[in-house]
Amino acid sequence: MSIITIERKVLEKNDELAAQLRNEFKKNKLFVINIVSSPGSGKTSILEKTIEKLKGKINLAVIEGDVQTDLDAKRVEKYNVPVVQIVTNGGCHLDAKLVKDALDSINLSDISFLVIENVGNLVCPAGYDLGEDYKIVVLSTTEGDDKPLKYPKMFINSSILIINKVDLLPYVNCNIKELRDNALMINPDLKVFETSATTGAGIDDWCEWILANIKK
Ligand code: MG
Ligand code: ZN
Repeated sequence: MSIITIERKVLEKNDELAAQLRNEFKKNKLFVINIVSSPGSGKTSILEKTIEKLKGKINLAVIEGDVQTDLDAKRVEKYNVPVVQIVTNGGCHLDAKLVKDALDSINLSDISFLVIENVGNLVCPAGYDLGEDYKIVVLSTTEGDDKPLKYPKMFINSSILIINKVDLLPYVNCNIKELRDNALMINPDLKVFETSATTGAGIDDWCEWILANIKK
């Protein structure tokens, strides 16, 4: 048996499980996002700002995926929202089975918004459906403007692009127009937000988009 065949089987099994999760989310009228990016783009920082804005408006829960440590879950826990840390012990992506197991610790009927923060990696999280409504890819200005061209699958499979750390634009080698153009060339349907988790720029627009997607 070739490695390619094994990988295909793994992905088929994952798709099956993700479809079950999607049903479960639908039953509970949950809006679910899967945030993907390379390490250090600011996923958790954006999430912290988002929780600050949305607290009191909607009930949400967070699943944190990391290769090691519960540092990110601890950051989220400070906001008194339900959070489950998945430690993959070297695994470079979350899969539907890991998410399913994490859901044992979350009461889905209590929440309307579930955030899954994936492991920092622009490659294989693109191929693993977690039953989410949307994949959100975060790219920071410090990563340059060529990443959509180098990691196209992630941008093809995502619905939203958040360009983070826009406050650093004067200091980094990143042309934001070029970055937008590259991303939209790969996926013309991408909706783009520009944010800074440091200054709070763009966070209001992003949170409005979330609120507009909460299921009634
Ligand atoms: Mg993080
Ligand atoms: Zn992986």
